[in-house]
Amino acid sequence: MKILIAEDEPSLRENLQLMLELEGYQVRSACDGLDALEQARAHCPDLLISDVMMPRLDGFGLVEALRQDAATAMLPIIVLSAKADRSDVRLGMTLGADDYLVKPYRREELLDAITTRLSRSRQVAQATVRHQDEIRQALQLDPLTSLPNRLGFEQAIASELRQHQGSGPPAITVVCLGLDGFSRINDGFGSTVGDLVLCEVSRRLGHAVRQLGQSAGQHPVARLAGDCFGICLRTSAPAPALASQVRQLMQVLAPPFQIAGHSLHLNASTGACQASDSSCTAVSLMFNAESAMRHAKPHGPGAYRLFDGAVNQQVARQLQIHNELHNAVANGALLVYYQPQIQVGTGQLRGFEALARWQHPTLGWVSPAEFIPIAEASGIINQLGESVLRSAAAQAVQWLNLGQRDFRMAVNLSVRQFASGQLPALVGQVLHDTGLPAHMLELEVTESLALQSVASTVATLHSLKALGIKLSMDDFGTGYSSLAYLKRYPLDALKIDQSFVRNITHDAGDAAITRAIVAMAHSFGMSVIAEGVETPEQLAFLRQLGCEEFQGYLFSRPVPASEALRCFGGYHPV
Ligand code: C2E
Ligand code: CA
Ligand code: CA
Repeated sequence: MKILIAEDEPSLRENLQLMLELEGYQVRSACDGLDALEQARAHCPDLLISDVMMPRLDGFGLVEALRQDAATAMLPIIVLSAKADRSDVRLGMTLGADDYLVKPYRREELLDAITTRLSRSRQVAQATVRHQDEIRQALQLDPLTSLPNRLGFEQAIASELRQHQGSGPPAITVVCLGLDGFSRINDGFGSTVGDLVLCEVSRRLGHAVRQLGQSAGQHPVARLAGDCFGICLRTSAPAPALASQVRQLMQVLAPPFQIAGHSLHLNASTGACQASDSSCTAVSLMFNAESAMRHAKPHGPGAYRLFDGAVNQQVARQLQIHNELHNAVANGALLVYYQPQIQVGTGQLRGFEALARWQHPTLGWVSPAEFIPIAEASGIINQLGESVLRSAAAQAVQWLNLGQRDFRMAVNLSVRQFASGQLPALVGQVLHDTGLPAHMLELEVTESLALQSVASTVATLHSLKALGIKLSMDDFGTGYSSLAYLKRYPLDALKIDQSFVRNITHDAGDAAITRAIVAMAHSFGMSVIAEGVETPEQLAFLRQLGCEEFQGYLFSRPVPASEALRCFGGYHPV
């Protein structure tokens, strides 16, 4: 234990130093307050014994200065004074001294005070460490489910990896799980029900992982974010065996969740990443498992994907698209193609759908199915959408000027464009700038609108209608098919998704769904456009159902404006 003495009287200082050294302490001494202050900062003693009356800086000034510095604020201090004035003692204690002895003191008295101070300070240090541990634990815990959070999960995986160090590839697999459509539960039933569902999910997962008998560490299940959970398994099972283990785990979500009087059905998409060698880190395992899960999601609900080279390449590709899309939009590198829409009854052209196209300098043609979701996630969709709208409107006016009549120009809208609040004003501005008559413009919205605030969506749709444009519901039947919104939205047409049309002639189920959609649309006073029509048989079937229009490769793929002119002749098979 290191003790610092501050005493200006040389003989007293030397006596005290000798006595303490004989007791086994390491002792330094300072000849006044300033000297003591410097030595305390430089050598971090465990205790200071200080005289009061000293030149340059007295004992009170020294105590005050030490207490204001974070490095010495906790240093135990015993003050020695010749004066036994009570107000003097009080001042020393108020400034932060821990004990006070009046000279002349007895040797035992001082040694007693020193041991008491040192043991107190050890207790405080231990309590501080305990406190820090508690804070660290709290920072690694999800307050809702009491599971480890992302940070805690990372630590748990890191500790698993450490245990496997040096013994070949670690037998560790990280599984990431995202609940499918969880936002619907939150939006539909409120966040209290949502929270209860998350707690029940965490309970069931914990149970399932224990049953599987391969859980790693004490806390193998974690909540990584909102509806996303992580599981750490002690396995290096080959891909097919792992897939069946994950499927077995997910079975635990199958029984309906009975919560607050509701019976809720839940599914989860999962991604997994196996530690392939000893260079794997907790962060890379988690990132890769999450990437795999994001790749699985669109194939869901309940889809599973193992992280491999293909996912890795895909992640890199998406990052590149994300990074370069902004410039492509700003520099007008995106093109617009046009796909004709035909009237089923007469074969006449009804109009065109404008579809964004991007020819990337190194990646080649990138599908909008790939770059639109990235544009939506990064927010660039607003500029992209406006640019497609302007190009398509200007193109339509050009065809009008060439003498073409009676056609409509349909443009896709992203939900994100609704959120901006500027949409009706923007559309009005584009109509004004290009001179396109409002009734010739049609905007295609998607069912995911149903996830937005109903009141503001309905208001925006009515403001758009008030401009005189047409509105249609795209990809009908694929999304959050709630019929409730159909009644409230001022729609002119429904577009039946190509996934139904594809099998319409040989799948009785899809045929029945399509028939029902057509009948329902008609009962709401909407017309129906079938997408993805590729064969005459599909067209014949749609004609029978009374579907008004179609669009698809049977007549034409989306083509550049220069090739679209020939479509005005309509569809007349020989
Ligand atoms: P969508 O609006 O459902 O567009 C129809 C998609 O089906 C187009 O794909 C089109 O090329 C394709 N298609 C048309 N006929 C057939 C057919 O007979 N068979 C098959 N198999 N496919 C057919 P594309 O152009 O790749 O667009 C994909 C999606 O990207 C679009 O789906 C739309 O959701 C989105 N998208 C495209 N351009 C824009 C845009 O400017 N803004 C927004 N927000 N989304 C866009
Ligand atoms: Ca569309
Ligand atoms: Ca569509």
